[in-house]
Amino acid sequence: MEFCDRETAKKLFERYRSKRDGIRTSPEMASICLICGSVHIVPKAGDARMLVCRDCGFAFYRYQCDLCGATVDGRDPHNPACRECGLRTCSCGACGCSAKIKGELR
Ligand SMILES: [Zn+2]
Ligand SMILES: [Zn+2]
Ligand SMILES: [Zn+2]
Repeated sequence: MEFCDRETAKKLFERYRSKRDGIRTSPEMASICLICGSVHIVPKAGDARMLVCRDCGFAFYRYQCDLCGATVDGRDPHNPACRECGLRTCSCGACGCSAKIKGELR
């Protein structure tokens, strides 16, 4: 399934390749590979939180935050990796740990 046409994909690819801020807020970026520019992005088998590029094999996190519902994208600098759970940290501060320790003291 191709989310956007090649021209749009190319423009977005060039824009976000040089400046990765905001990838998470761009719905088109769910279907554009930031490594090779391909639009052949498919869900990763065995991991509902990851997508994978069919052309170059690059896999990245892209999912909705369990707590606030915002999109989390592993390629966005505002979604850094959490060393504890290995998932990405949402702009609200939640990651996989938050689901585990919700309601408990850190
Ligand atoms: Zn690719
Ligand atoms: Zn969140
Ligand atoms: Zn975590």
